[in-house]
Amino acid sequence: MLIDVVDQYDSEKKKYLKELRTKIILQLSTQQDHKKIVTFLSKAWIINLEDIEKKVYIGFANDFMLSNAKKIFNKSLKETIQTVYNPQYTVEYIVYPPFSNWNDLLIDLWTLLNIKPQEKKPINPISKSLKDELYDYFWILFDPTFRFDNFVAWANNQFAYSAAKAVAENPWNAYNPLFIYWNVGLGKTHLMQAIWNEIISTQPDKVIIYLPATKLVDEIVQSLQHNKMSTLMRKFDDVDALLIDDIQFLAWKDKTQEIFHNIFNDFQSKKKQIIISSDRPPKELTQIEPRLKTRFALWLVADIQAPDYETRIAILQSKLEVKQETIDSELLWIIAQHITSNVRELEWALNILLTRKNLSWNEISENDVYACLQTLWYSPKHTNIYTPKWKSQNFDTIVEMVANYYSISIAELKSDSRKKEITTARQILMLIAKKHFRRTLEKIWMYFWGKNHATAIYAISNIEKKLKSDEDIQRDYQIFTEWVEQ
Ligand code: ADP
Ligand code: MG
Repeated sequence: MLIDVVDQYDSEKKKYLKELRTKIILQLSTQQDHKKIVTFLSKAWIINLEDIEKKVYIGFANDFMLSNAKKIFNKSLKETIQTVYNPQYTVEYIVYPPFSNWNDLLIDLWTLLNIKPQEKKPINPISKSLKDELYDYFWILFDPTFRFDNFVAWANNQFAYSAAKAVAENPWNAYNPLFIYWNVGLGKTHLMQAIWNEIISTQPDKVIIYLPATKLVDEIVQSLQHNKMSTLMRKFDDVDALLIDDIQFLAWKDKTQEIFHNIFNDFQSKKKQIIISSDRPPKELTQIEPRLKTRFALWLVADIQAPDYETRIAILQSKLEVKQETIDSELLWIIAQHITSNVRELEWALNILLTRKNLSWNEISENDVYACLQTLWYSPKHTNIYTPKWKSQNFDTIVEMVANYYSISIAELKSDSRKKEITTARQILMLIAKKHFRRTLEKIWMYFWGKNHATAIYAISNIEKKLKSDEDIQRDYQIFTEWVEQ
């Protein structure tokens, strides 16, 4: 392949090609508008001189440059080559990905053609209005709840999480490009948008674009239809970091892949950040053209597996915190036991239950959870609820242990006795119920018979106050929470 050949050129050959290019540009500049030359030929190089077919191969950084150069310079470029190189040769135009050693071939056309620097297009910072226009244009599907602080990292996704965090904190310098993959519903979009969110706040004058691949396909198809490819490509020129979600949707779309390939090459040559997500590893992207696929495989590839049981519970709890809601831990355990491989479905289950709770004003029961699981096509296993390792005790057992500890009976605990020891034990248990078992206040109140649920609120705030100053209570509370976690 030509690409390999160019890579292997020795410095003599590179020098020769560079000089030839200089001659061609200078010759061309006697007849053509200098600004057009700079605009459309600054990213064009002589790739090869083909002696058998008698062709001069000119490579362009992208389709847009190629088609414009062909339109504007076709005849004069051919004549120029025949004048400065060889009268028998013709020109062949190809899109060629720029790669690092092309810098050797780079000539500053501005200097060569003696164009004053103030005529150069300003590169940075881009104007506010253009930035706004870009954001409007790229139509960001943005969910403000997709942040790093509510993304639960677990052992199997620690690597992806750290890589994403590193890129977010140090874009352009950490991992570039980055390829993130795992199954649907496991947090790709969450992580991509968390990166986007973070860069956007720390690098306010840069343009960071998050684009679902389906949207990219739409944009490209529209631009092709309306002959506006050049406008689209120019917009990408102003983008500093590009995040493309769900790259697998580019499958089968040959033309789109080609354009995408050009955009990517351009980004890579300019060391602009690229992050891609996919629902499968690079080698399994069967309908993506091989040269793209191979390149993805060379990037930093971060994958994860489904979260384990404890993590699933932690995710449910984190979602409840975002929503400022509570559901009994024991019910969360049932959900996490059934929904094992898809975080999105965990969240659906939670939403169904919360809607039910808010519509009926009733506490959610185990039956509600089973009904919800059935709605989501899970067949509930009613027996043997598997409690998480770190919470092997159920609340009744703890109540029993605490009663024994203080040598009081459960009946006394549940009575309205105001004896100091009983009150303390009851209040500590209420706090444990709330904090460690995520019991709702209504449930706590029902458990301990309280007159109304203000009693539970009072009891908990009272014991929390005492915990700050009373060492005995601190010690006892510490012992009991260790029991919970045994
Ligand atoms: P994908 O893009 O991989 O299909 P999403 O990013 O849309 O998945 O995730 C689906 C849902 O699951 C989102 O609501 C997301 O917030 C949540 N989610 C996935 N992984 C996690 C995690 N590790 N911590 C918190 N929420 C998560
Ligand atoms: Mg997604």
